[in-house]
Amino acid sequence: MNADLRNLISLQDIDQKIASLKKHISEVPDKVRTLHEELVRLIQAHQARVGLNQDLAKQRRARESDVDMMRTKLSRLKDQLMTVKTNREYTVMLHEIESGEEQIRVAEDGILDVMEQMEAMEGDLADSDRALAIRKEELDREIKNAENAAPLMESEVARLGQVKTDLEAIIGADLLGRYHRIADARKGIALAEAKNELCSACHVRIRPQVYAELLRTDEIHVCDSCSRILFLREGDKA
Ligand SMILES: [Zn+2]
Repeated sequence: MNADLRNLISLQDIDQKIASLKKHISEVPDKVRTLHEELVRLIQAHQARVGLNQDLAKQRRARESDVDMMRTKLSRLKDQLMTVKTNREYTVMLHEIESGEEQIRVAEDGILDVMEQMEAMEGDLADSDRALAIRKEELDREIKNAENAAPLMESEVARLGQVKTDLEAIIGADLLGRYHRIADARKGIALAEAKNELCSACHVRIRPQVYAELLRTDEIHVCDSCSRILFLREGDKA
C-alpha cells in the first residue's frame, strides 16, 4: 500500500479517537449534573417520607394529650355529679358526661387511625431507607468515576495529539492538505474503504476502472460521489 495512504489511515484513526474522547470529556459535566440531580431527588423524596412519618407521630401525641385532658375533665364532672342538688342539674351534667365520653371515643378512633397509617409507613420507610443507601452508593461511585475519567481522557488526548503531530510530519503536504479539507467537509471522515466495489462511507458503486486501479496500483483515488480518499484493505488487493 501507498505509504502516505497507510499513514493517513492511522491519522484518521487517531483523529476519530481524539474526537470521540473530546466528545466524552464534554459530556462529563452534564453526566455528573444528572447524577447529582437524581441523588438530590432521591434524598428529598426520602426526607418527605420521614417528615410525613414525624407529622403522624406529632398528630398522635397531640391527640393523646387531648384524650388525657378530656378524661381529666370527665372525672371532675363525675365527681361533681354526686354533689348536684336538682334533677335538672343532674340531667344536664349527665348529658355533658355522655358527650365527653363520645368525644373520647372519636379521638381514640383517630389515634388508632394515625397508628395504622404509621404502621403501614414503617415498612415503606425501611425499604426507602435501604434503597436510598444502595442507590446513593452507586451514584456516588458513578459521579466519582465520571470525574476521575475526565483527566485521564484529557491526558490521552494530549498523547494522541503528539502521535498525530509526528504522523503529519511524515505525510506529503499536498495529500495531508487534501485529507484535512475532505475531513472538514465530511464530518471528520476523509478516508473510505473500498469494499465489494462500493465506497463504504456513502455506499455508492465505484467505477470499475477506478476500482481496477485501486487493486493494481498505489495511486490515490477519490470516491466520485462523496470525494473521500478510497483505500483497500491489504487482503483485498490482487
Ligand atoms: Zn463515497
